[in-house]
Amino acid sequence: MNKVLLEINDIRKEFVKDKSLTGKAKSVLLAVDGVSLSIHEGEILGLVGESGCGKSTLGRMIVKLCEPTCGQILFEGNDITHLKQKEMRDYRRQIQIIFQDPYASLNPRMTILQAVRAPLDAFQIGTRKERDERAAEALNEVGLTSEYLKKYPHEMSGGQRQRAAIARAMILRPKLVVCDEPVSALDVSVRAQVLNLMKTLQQQKQAAYLFISHDLSVTHHLCDRIAVMYMGKLVETAEKEELYQKPLHPYTQALLASIPLPVRDHKRKHVPLEGDVPSPLNPPKGCRFHERCKYAAEICSTEEPKLREVCPGHCIACHFDIQPEVE
Ligand code: SF4
Repeated sequence: MNKVLLEINDIRKEFVKDKSLTGKAKSVLLAVDGVSLSIHEGEILGLVGESGCGKSTLGRMIVKLCEPTCGQILFEGNDITHLKQKEMRDYRRQIQIIFQDPYASLNPRMTILQAVRAPLDAFQIGTRKERDERAAEALNEVGLTSEYLKKYPHEMSGGQRQRAAIARAMILRPKLVVCDEPVSALDVSVRAQVLNLMKTLQQQKQAAYLFISHDLSVTHHLCDRIAVMYMGKLVETAEKEELYQKPLHPYTQALLASIPLPVRDHKRKHVPLEGDVPSPLNPPKGCRFHERCKYAAEICSTEEPKLREVCPGHCIACHFDIQPEVE
């Protein structure tokens, strides 16, 4: 396996939702609670889970769009957790983000050429002519030919805008790209094209991706390894094929039950996920999944399961080894 590029150690993010008159926190939302994971050079790690499980917050902490409450982020072995704005400059070249909504992430007053050239302008790379040429080349790589250079975001389709956003993210040749649900706002008809484009670029540029998604059929198509999150915690991590063939956490088994048959194993019994996600302002004691888990035992409501390795590279946070049921 390649060298570790990014390492996250026991990271937490709290949001204060309500303060008393004295400024004391009355309620705190724990969006990310003690997550540790690593991403290797050139790897695509999928981060999956339901909406509100903390996966986007984790991605935003990695690109320093929000500060962790505690924990540590190492990039190429260097601690970047509390870097100041100035010190962040170098790091920003190495790590980029692609957002879910390309319309919101592109400046409506900039042409597509200007938007894609902006990172080169910020780092004063080359002459203005060279930057224009490089931006046009980057747009061409994502399938947007010269006729699009002078267009504004509102003159393009969602898929074309996301292609431009991808070109902008890749133009500095980053080592890591956080992809935050990059295809979920697109029409189904263009999703596969954009996913294939992302995979091709990743292979050409040898970048690593943290691919955040709620859709396990998308991560199956793209990722090498998968990490599953539930209510701010990692509950299962494994190589892609291992996770799809042999999910060991009841939450992962239930998530897999909701995806189309060609992706999941049809011989396995699939029990759909029931009940709502509990309030993150008041998470259940013990295992956070116990109110929705059909295997829950007494220990599950009192003792929190730690993430443990059950076989090489495959970790689960569950008190038991629950094999997938066969029909
Ligand atoms: Fe279910 Fe208990 Fe495992 Fe949690 S620890 S997933 S409640 S069996």
